[in-house]
Amino acid sequence: MLRAGVRFLVGMTALAALVTPVAAVPLPTPGSVESTVAAMNAVTSADRDRERRSVRGVRVLGRSVEGRRIRAFHLGQPASKRRETVVLISTMHGNESATGQILRALRDAPQIYGVDLWVVPTYNPDGEARGTRRNARGVDLNRNYPNNWVDLDGNYESGAGPASEPETRAMMNFLRDIRPDRILSFHQPLYGVDVDTKRPGFARKVARKLRLPRSSFTCGGVCHGTMTGWYNNNFRGNALTVEYGARPSRRLMRKVAPVQVLSIFGARIDSARIVG
Ligand SMILES: [Zn+2]
Repeated sequence: MLRAGVRFLVGMTALAALVTPVAAVPLPTPGSVESTVAAMNAVTSADRDRERRSVRGVRVLGRSVEGRRIRAFHLGQPASKRRETVVLISTMHGNESATGQILRALRDAPQIYGVDLWVVPTYNPDGEARGTRRNARGVDLNRNYPNNWVDLDGNYESGAGPASEPETRAMMNFLRDIRPDRILSFHQPLYGVDVDTKRPGFARKVARKLRLPRSSFTCGGVCHGTMTGWYNNNFRGNALTVEYGARPSRRLMRKVAPVQVLSIFGARIDSARIVG
């Protein structure tokens, strides 16, 4: 991390000498460790995001209960008649964060072709920080949406009312704005793809491409307040729940699944552009 930061800083300095100095990165005083660290801290996350070649933009959807940013990274190519707009969401439940690796691998990949893609690697940052399913107020975000909302308690606590949580409202505003053709919401550990859904043919394709079993996630009867239910009932596009197992391997999450996910949409990473 430190070494990458130094390399980036050296690169920026060389670049500034050759081209016009766009970013005002404070340069370290020679020999001063403190000023070097300060300068590296000045390399903001926005700078790092610009360095990622496939990232077209970063949108802050909103903030969590504890004020953490919920970010969506815009990848791929502009939407067109032949090119779908897709949103991938991970870690809606804070203790189901393994699939965030799939989305970060896509974010950090070279250019992606064939899809207009948004990834939200960490939808519930407070839950992830605590290692809990629910958000900082103890609400299960996937029971908080204004669709068949009922007052649930315990592990499935549904909140004070429909869309009572800032994380819920942030995602609703984003999805209303983007109106994706497809949403995949990644969870763990039920290991399967929900084919008892709005577009069962597409769900079967997802199961086949990701090599996951076809399943039916019925929430023990009717699903209350789920994000996928809300989106499927209110928009033309469709949202689908994908469940990996409890401990998917790093290789599956970082190498295999990202390519499999793109293949669902006929998209690909341009590996010819990998340099250095
Ligand atoms: Zn879940």
